[in-house]
Amino acid sequence: MNRRNFIKFSAVGFASSAVAEDLASVDSRNLDSPNADSTKIMSIIDLDLCDGCKGLETPLCVSACKEKNKANFPQPTHPIMDYFPQTKHEDYSKNKEDITRLTPYNWTYVESVKVANREVFVPRRCMHCDNPPCQKLYPFGVISKSKEGAVDIDKDFCFGGAKCRDACPWEIPQRQAGVGIYLKTAPKLAGGGVMYECDMRKDLLERGEKPVCEVKCPKNAIKFGKESEILERIKHDKRHIYRLEENGRTVSVYISSIKFEDINKAILEKYNNKPKMGRPHMEKVRNPLEKSANLALAVTIAPFAACLERALRR
Ligand code: SF4
Ligand code: SF4
Repeated sequence: MNRRNFIKFSAVGFASSAVAEDLASVDSRNLDSPNADSTKIMSIIDLDLCDGCKGLETPLCVSACKEKNKANFPQPTHPIMDYFPQTKHEDYSKNKEDITRLTPYNWTYVESVKVANREVFVPRRCMHCDNPPCQKLYPFGVISKSKEGAVDIDKDFCFGGAKCRDACPWEIPQRQAGVGIYLKTAPKLAGGGVMYECDMRKDLLERGEKPVCEVKCPKNAIKFGKESEILERIKHDKRHIYRLEENGRTVSVYISSIKFEDINKAILEKYNNKPKMGRPHMEKVRNPLEKSANLALAVTIAPFAACLERALRR
């Protein structure tokens, strides 16, 4: 077990052990009646409509996201230091154009897999969990959840410890070293850069505008809308659904005529059954913090996990 997995099992795994054995189907339709006046936004990604922008070098949702967010991409200070005494750091600045995975310079990417002779394309990004483990497990105010539902990392105060990535069921946030507040405070001992992920363009949502991934999609495969409208739409759709369940549901919902178990199996096989950083799986997951006891436990042990992580880095 490597350091990262050790931390993960220590913190998230320990906190979630009570629910680990009863991972429920992500394919259920647990649709409570939402408040129709709620400002909350949801999004649907329809895998039967997405064709991966076949024929284009870069899918339009990806290029639109990169263009819209380029001012927020990291600009590291060189030379980038390793964590003492390690001899490595995460630096994606030399490969900013990589669109084959999530990186600090690519907040959405499109996975492609073959499932029963059909090519399936899966746009991936932060799911914007309702009860985000990335935020709840490390509640230092660096990760916020807007009233529209967007989860956002404050780049000015993130130390890049990557614990949000450890807590995320899909390991979505990605780290760039050589940037951030840690450079000014404790460049060798604390943190390691800044974490980046899709912020759902909360500035646009606050103004009632649509994120560019929806606007630019030629197939209408991505749709944002009021929670009540989206849930109503899902209710009448008999296809398969992928999202977190219980109080840890997600703002983002995938819908497909192909079972997500089969899509996930194809993704895992594509990568020789080894998890690949930046290329999330589609396994059945539940928010490990959905039970208040687990949340309390997680919050209690989070600082120790952080200390443990720092100790293991030395
Ligand atoms: S979601 Fe739309 S823009 Fe993105 S790859 Fe699919 S078809 Fe293209
Ligand atoms: S998908 Fe991961 S990074 Fe996004 S809100 Fe959920 S736990 Fe946080």
